Formats: sequence, C-alpha cells, structure tokens
Amino acid sequence: MPKQSITIDPGHGGTDPGAVYENYLEKDWTLDISLHMAEELRKHGHPVSLTRVTDIRLTASQRAKLVRESGTAVCISNHINSGGGEGAEVIYSLHDERYLAALILEELAAAGMKKRRVYTRESTRHPGKDYYYIHRDTRPIETVIIEYGFIDNSNDRAKLSKPEFRKELAAATVRGITEYLALAEPKPPLSASVMIIDQSGRKIEFPKEKTQIIQGNTYLEGRELTNILGGKARWDADSKTATFDFKR
Ligand SMILES: [Zn+2]
Repeated sequence: MPKQSITIDPGHGGTDPGAVYENYLEKDWTLDISLHMAEELRKHGHPVSLTRVTDIRLTASQRAKLVRESGTAVCISNHINSGGGEGAEVIYSLHDERYLAALILEELAAAGMKKRRVYTRESTRHPGKDYYYIHRDTRPIETVIIEYGFIDNSNDRAKLSKPEFRKELAAATVRGITEYLALAEPKPPLSASVMIIDQSGRKIEFPKEKTQIIQGNTYLEGRELTNILGGKARWDADSKTATFDFKR
C-alpha cells in the first residue's frame, strides 16, 4: 500500500520571526524541526511537501493555499510558544478527532518536553469555526498546530536551543504521525475456526473465509450455515429480508 503523504508547515519566516527571545527566533527553530521531520518521514517512505524550506515570509492565504493544494491527508504546522508557560501543546481542529494531536503530545512528552495540553479553540467572532486560520482555511486536510515549548521559559529554551534536541523532537512528532496513520489503516478482518455439529452428530468445519470476528463475537455467513444444516436460504432485496428455512 502506498504510504500517505504529509504536509509540514514551518511557522512564520522572513520578516515575520514569530516569537523572539534575545537572539533566538521561532521561525528558525520551526524551520529546523520541519526539515528534520521531512527527512525522517521520507525515510519511512512518506511523500512530504513543505510550505517553505527557506527563510521566506508567506501570507496567511498563501500558506493555507499551499496546504490545501498539497492534497495530503495530514498537515503539521510547527510553532514555538511564548507568553509565560512551560511545555508542549498540540491544537487540533473543531472538526477533527483528538487522536493525532494526543499521540504527538505523548511522544513529545516521552522525548522530554513537559506535557501541557491537547485542545481545540473556537473562534469567538465566528462560532462553530476554528480560531486559527491554518485549521479554518485548510479543510478538508487534518491540520494540527504543535507548540513545542515556550521560548520565554528557561527550561524549555535550554532544550529547544539545542540542535540535537530539536532533531529528537522532530523524530518524536514523526512517531506520533506514523502511529496515527497505522491506526487509521484498514485492517483485514479476523476470521475464526468454527466446527459445526449437526443433529446427527456429524462434524463439519465451517469455511474460514465465511467467518468473521467483530469485537470478540464470532459471525458466520447465514447462507453457508443454512446449507450445512440442510436448510434453504432466501434473500429478498426489496425488503432486505433473509429467510433461513429448515422445515422438512
Ligand atoms: Zn508561531
């Protein structure tokens, strides 16, 4: 099966540095993490597109358009927080489930970031819509925003300013994404070995391909079971009625 493609959006860029602390700029760290993520995902066989690979500024509409037109299933928008706090947060769209964000946050915590929260944020001006444009304007792509840590927190800064650590965070995010994609992949149904003993005591093995295990229960195809037991099966498509007839 071909691997799913992923878009990576390194937050800010060019004349927009994002969060700043002394010589540290959010736009540099987000680009660095993003390039490592791209490398790691490609190693796993996932096609990757990025909204930027150099230090350029993108308008909100350019950025959203690049994500939308990438045609990928998932977009990761990388950011660094500021404003007093410590640790990593992952924000998902009002219109998505929380699994992808939650798996990524678990991996970031395992890599050494303090776990803050996984959440959605609704626009107050436009109820029912996402607060962040990168969620709002990139539908139907499942976009999550990762805030890796706070540039103005000394613990977070000590970690995030290390190039090696940023590489580890990129790998952690990729683990979260690949776990999520593996969960989303359709799996072949489980089948069961079933023995039928009919009224005369005859043992018959039920064809395994006509069995299925769903949530711990064994299901057998009705027509096959009826044939084995000497009955007749009928299906009425109009009323969607199956009749299993065992009368002698
Ligand atoms: Zn940012």
